[in-house]
Amino acid sequence: MKYERPHLRGLAGYVPGAQPNAPSVKLNTNENPYPPSNAVFLKLASLSADILQRYPDPLAQQFRAAAARLHNLSPDHVIATNGGDELLRLALATYLDPGAPLGVLTPSYRLYSVLAAMHDAPLAAVPLESDWSLPADTADRWNASAAPLAIVTNPHAPSGTLLSVAGLDRLARTFKGVLLIDEAYIDFVDPGLCHRTSELVREYPNVLLLRTLSKGYSLAGLRLAYGLGEPDLIAPMLFKTKDSYNVDTISQLIGAAALDDARGAASTWEAVRGSRSHLARALATLGFECHPSQANFLLAKAPIGEGLPSAETLYRALMARGVYVRWFDEDRLRDKLRISVGTPEENAHLVRALELELIA
Ligand code: PMP
Repeated sequence: MKYERPHLRGLAGYVPGAQPNAPSVKLNTNENPYPPSNAVFLKLASLSADILQRYPDPLAQQFRAAAARLHNLSPDHVIATNGGDELLRLALATYLDPGAPLGVLTPSYRLYSVLAAMHDAPLAAVPLESDWSLPADTADRWNASAAPLAIVTNPHAPSGTLLSVAGLDRLARTFKGVLLIDEAYIDFVDPGLCHRTSELVREYPNVLLLRTLSKGYSLAGLRLAYGLGEPDLIAPMLFKTKDSYNVDTISQLIGAAALDDARGAASTWEAVRGSRSHLARALATLGFECHPSQANFLLAKAPIGEGLPSAETLYRALMARGVYVRWFDEDRLRDKLRISVGTPEENAHLVRALELELIA
């Protein structure tokens, strides 16, 4: 411990959701409940171990070309990373000067503040409104703190709230630093909303989008994500701050196959959206209040009443029944459960377990 840098001594690291070994209903880490597309199975089956003899392509060109095709951008607009978490880390390493604050919204994905603490950076934290919307003066507040980098999660985690493209456009125009829009859950947005953000990349030199294959493409075990931004924004990460071989050969090949078959994955997004509405209704019947979600999870406020268990008690009781959800010991979240949308069978299992706990 004595060799650890002093600012790390008091830091509690990010605590990921449990990965239980025993049979369980796992609705705690927002994975896609359906398997990857057929193209992924075929690509994986076609790989031979001899491809591992050499280092991977340091620039992941085939994968970046696939991402560029999907978003109608050029490969220079794309960086491949070892999960979205690596892109977040690279963004801090690349754009956040020592001592300068990281702009965040609270509450948000806790890794942002953990990364800031590792970087010894203060936070320019703007609390979200009570309906989880963005305060109108967000960019002004980040600018007043001279934050060189700020992160917005859209759809927001853990509430699932979607900010409009117009709202993001305003933020990108007004904020003076790099605006990282974390779109980890974007694939689950209702297509009827026509929410397209890749145009923001062309329009604003300070916009960096985070996309991951962990959620929409059912590849959380692969560790592959990418960033989209103007070539000038991408180049320092691509050529200076990332590890030489940050994405392994297998991930590059499978990732390209997955993106080329985005339509295969899209059928799972549709199924998750259907289950999301169904689960929200079932939870409402049990007295939970769910904020409308455009992600693959619901933030459900536990019913309050004489003798009813708290959200934390429910979380632990569900775990004892082999049903895993997430509870956050954080302001505005302690009275809620974050529940990943599972298959209809998993969701029904969760609802039955909740019924048993609420009438017990
Ligand atoms: N952003 C948010 C908001 C997330 O919830 C996650 C996953 N926990 C990520 C980014 C990163 O995901 P991954 O590293 O699996 O791409």
